[in-house]
Amino acid sequence: MIYSEKASATAAIAITPEFYPFVIVGAGLGGLTLARILQKHGMAVVIFEADIARDARGQGGSLDMHVESGQLALREAGLENAFRAIARPEGQGLRIVDKAGLVYWQESADPSSTPDNFERPEVDRAKLRDLLLDSLHPGTVRWGHKLTASEIAVSGGHLLHFDNGLRIHAGTLVGADGAWSRVRALLSDVNPHYTGVSFVEIGIPDAEHRHPEIAEMVGLGSFCALSDNKGLMAQRNGDGRIRIYIALRLPEEALAALNLPLDQPEEARNALLALFSDWATHLTNLIRVCDDSFQLRPINMLPVGLTWRSRPDVTVIGDAAHLMSPFAGEGANLAMLDAVELARAVLNADDYAEAISIYEAKMFAYSKPAAEQSDANLDLCISEDGAKQMAALMNEMNQERD
Ligand SMILES: Cc1cc2nc3c(=O)[nH]c(=O)nc-3n(C[C@H](O)[C@H](O)[C@H](O)COP(=O)(O)OP(=O)(O)OC[C@H]3O[C@@H](n4cnc5c(N)ncnc54)[C@H](O)[C@@H]3O)c2cc1C
Repeated sequence: MIYSEKASATAAIAITPEFYPFVIVGAGLGGLTLARILQKHGMAVVIFEADIARDARGQGGSLDMHVESGQLALREAGLENAFRAIARPEGQGLRIVDKAGLVYWQESADPSSTPDNFERPEVDRAKLRDLLLDSLHPGTVRWGHKLTASEIAVSGGHLLHFDNGLRIHAGTLVGADGAWSRVRALLSDVNPHYTGVSFVEIGIPDAEHRHPEIAEMVGLGSFCALSDNKGLMAQRNGDGRIRIYIALRLPEEALAALNLPLDQPEEARNALLALFSDWATHLTNLIRVCDDSFQLRPINMLPVGLTWRSRPDVTVIGDAAHLMSPFAGEGANLAMLDAVELARAVLNADDYAEAISIYEAKMFAYSKPAAEQSDANLDLCISEDGAKQMAALMNEMNQERD
């Protein structure tokens, strides 16, 4: 009897999930920024992240940080100076051409005149993520914890189940877990849908030395060739790599039928070149000389203006809340702005329920126009005369700014 009582007591201890008052799921730019700002104000936070380590996978290309969102968040996080040290103001240049190479828009960012121009400086996503990660208390990010299920706890909050078998009890839960967020399911049954456009990502390492003519064409910022419902969109990264997104308008069935042999570089290169056979050779050289890494990235989005009824102990930020196509360059910037707005609300409201409803009302209002813009820009860029249309948009934006 005594033995069995002991055994059941041990079992009870083993299955009681540890309680964490404030839990973030996902260590992307949104989750990391939120954790940093809250920790700076003395709050205890923990992030559970699916990746098994900080360097488990590549972090992608370059992002431009907008003054009113990404840069605001970095200031709020006390990281403005550190950000300036890794940012590339010279990366703000942009050239837009059509499939013949005819230039429709050219905006250069001369490195000698741009150090003080921090309107939309570029930064490598990996460096930005490192900056945020290094700013957190050691152990804040629990790597190798993929959220697989959650249930409402009888005593309030949520019981979270991870793929490694851990179960925890979260008081307040923030889903910063990206496009296919598990946490979002607690608030809405809406899922992302395919936009009809896919990217094939390729790259040219050390372009300056190996392919100076291509480096010259792309410049220090971004270069877009847009025509025929297709695009070759290149960007200079801080490590000298030119990252290229080959944009293709492909309905779902065509995407499946495309069947690109991504693991056979020569075949993949030839198949892609065949899709651009009537484009100028100096443009298609971006494909001809690329290295052997090919990645297919279907572009998905949540419905523009998605909202839900606020709940007192759970919310989402970033792509989990408002996944949009990258055609307005807003996703990462908004994820960081969400972090600012949620942190401000948490630090100032009377309780978490009030904080969440204040944050969500603001986030719904500012994310909707950004999602509309991203959606419109996708249609305009990946169109028959994408170069002309995008140049007209740039012109309009510049006139509004003046
Ligand atoms: C090709 C491309 C180019 C882009 N260019 C730009 C740009 O120039 N400017 C810009 O502002 N935005 C850009 N974006 C958008 C930007 O990448 C995203 O909006 C941004 O990364 C969103 O940040 P996030 O923190 O919300 O999500 P994410 O960066 O997706 O981070 C989510 C994190 O959650 C983790 N996670 C996911 N599921 C789970 C789970 N079940 N359990 C635990 N952890 C989980 C993931 O591993 C990840 O670390 C681009 C997007 C694409 C696809």
